[in-house]
Amino acid sequence: MDSTKRCSVIIVGAGVSGISAAKELSENGVDDLVILEASDRIGGRIRMENFGGVSVELGAGWIAGVGGKISNPVWELANQSGLRTLFSDYSNARYNIFDRCGKIFPSGLAADSYKKAVESAIHRLRNEAANVDEPATTPKTPIELAIDFILHDFEMAEVQPISTYTDYGEREFMVADERGYEYLLYKMAETFLLTSEGKILDNRLKLNKVVREIQQIRDGVSVTTEDGCIYEGNYLILSVSIGVLQSNLISFQPVLPRWKTKAIEKCDVMVYTKIFLKFPYKFWPCGPGKEFFIYAHERRGYYTFWQHMENAFPGCNILVVTLTNGESKRVEAQSDCETLKEAMQVLRNMFGPGIPDASDILVPRWWNNRFQRGSYSNYPIPMINNQVVHDIKAPVGRIFFTGEHTSERFSGYVHGGYLSGIDTVKALLEEMKIENKRSSESQTFLLEPLLALTSSLTSTQTETVPTLHKYELLRQIFLRSNLGLPEAIL
Ligand SMILES: Cc1cc2nc3c(=O)[nH]c(=O)nc-3n(C[C@H](O)[C@H](O)[C@H](O)COP(=O)(O)OP(=O)(O)OC[C@H]3O[C@@H](n4cnc5c(N)ncnc54)[C@H](O)[C@@H]3O)c2cc1C
Repeated sequence: MDSTKRCSVIIVGAGVSGISAAKELSENGVDDLVILEASDRIGGRIRMENFGGVSVELGAGWIAGVGGKISNPVWELANQSGLRTLFSDYSNARYNIFDRCGKIFPSGLAADSYKKAVESAIHRLRNEAANVDEPATTPKTPIELAIDFILHDFEMAEVQPISTYTDYGEREFMVADERGYEYLLYKMAETFLLTSEGKILDNRLKLNKVVREIQQIRDGVSVTTEDGCIYEGNYLILSVSIGVLQSNLISFQPVLPRWKTKAIEKCDVMVYTKIFLKFPYKFWPCGPGKEFFIYAHERRGYYTFWQHMENAFPGCNILVVTLTNGESKRVEAQSDCETLKEAMQVLRNMFGPGIPDASDILVPRWWNNRFQRGSYSNYPIPMINNQVVHDIKAPVGRIFFTGEHTSERFSGYVHGGYLSGIDTVKALLEEMKIENKRSSESQTFLLEPLLALTSSLTSTQTETVPTLHKYELLRQIFLRSNLGLPEAIL
């Protein structure tokens, strides 16, 4: 059992929201905090791995929302840290749609199908928002299915105004930096945790601590981790993902109220998987407008969206294919060998039988990772800004909730996580202020009769007992009674 003394705030999770919350607390003078992180690293869903000689991003890869009137705070952090990024131009992807025989759909047909799909999606959303139950046209042909996948699983901005784009701008920049996107988190951590040569040495950050129980005790919170350690704090900030909240990894004593669990259940979890394939040489078209390409198949989302990484890392010979939801879960459940076979078949359909086999494959498993259980929250559009997000975010007793899923405007994004950490701490600091005021009022209330008592005690003391100052006497009464010292007599 860990004998850590009670701290002010326990933060569960060291993803971007947990780290930004800790930094904000520290900047506001709350330094006695403990961060409990289940895995062996900080970053959470921002995760870089070395693959095929370069640094690839398994989780968040883009800074979305750049170029608008307001500056995206994550873009600012990236600039301050000198993170290497590249503009991603998706606009040409629709002109690189391959059929199963390797032919590219004519640009007129692709543009027309795209326009129709956008109109139909807007129509469908308006009906949903207005609660009109009108049958929508469903995509049927491979090209319609491919475009539907791109629109709904990637480019919702074309269908519905999304706060990220309306507030911060419509451009997206891909992180292509050897140090990884996670370098931003280390830079943040560096400002308030003890670090040396890129390593965090501060013992307020505790890695490999899987929180299994959160108990609300009198005037505080007690946390039990999988290895049997117990941590106590006055407050707790819970930054685990919505998928983890929906799972039974963490139990609460007392159980969370019904309004809270109902809201948690209502939020959809999106699974988004980037599969990386390394080749001995490149066989795909490069050059302007060719970075993204699409495979049209009769099964929606079947190895649909492809990107080559030549722009990011010239000569790396890496392709990335993105799967989502059902396809992600299916692929996570099978061996990487199976997945490699499927991906190679798709590539041979597009580029012919003569292409070389991939020499390596990397398949992240966000759904089966018990510390993630998915990639990001996905609120059905009409639900954004309504009671559900509000309830997911609302504190329960001394437990404060944070993370991208608690962001009303930017859920699903790194900047949503970053801003939510700051937002949650603002609410917590307010609560701390109220509590301090409440407790100093009750201490004064307690203190007055005690002061009267000590005055009478000191006035009746005999010569042989050294006279104690009345505050010293009070100090001793409190120490012996284990009540803790009220601020007024510290
Ligand atoms: C594949 C993928 C692609 C993405 N692409 C983008 C993108 O391009 N751009 C973008 O802006 N966003 C993207 N996102 C979303 C973005 O990564 C997240 O919104 C953001 O990183 C979430 O941060 P967070 O702090 O809310 O949660 P997390 O990063 O999940 O942090 C929570 C932390 O809690 C820890 N934890 C969980 N359970 C416990 C426990 N029981 N005890 C202790 N610790 C626990 C976890 O290990 C984790 O470190 C992507 C995400 C994924 C997965």
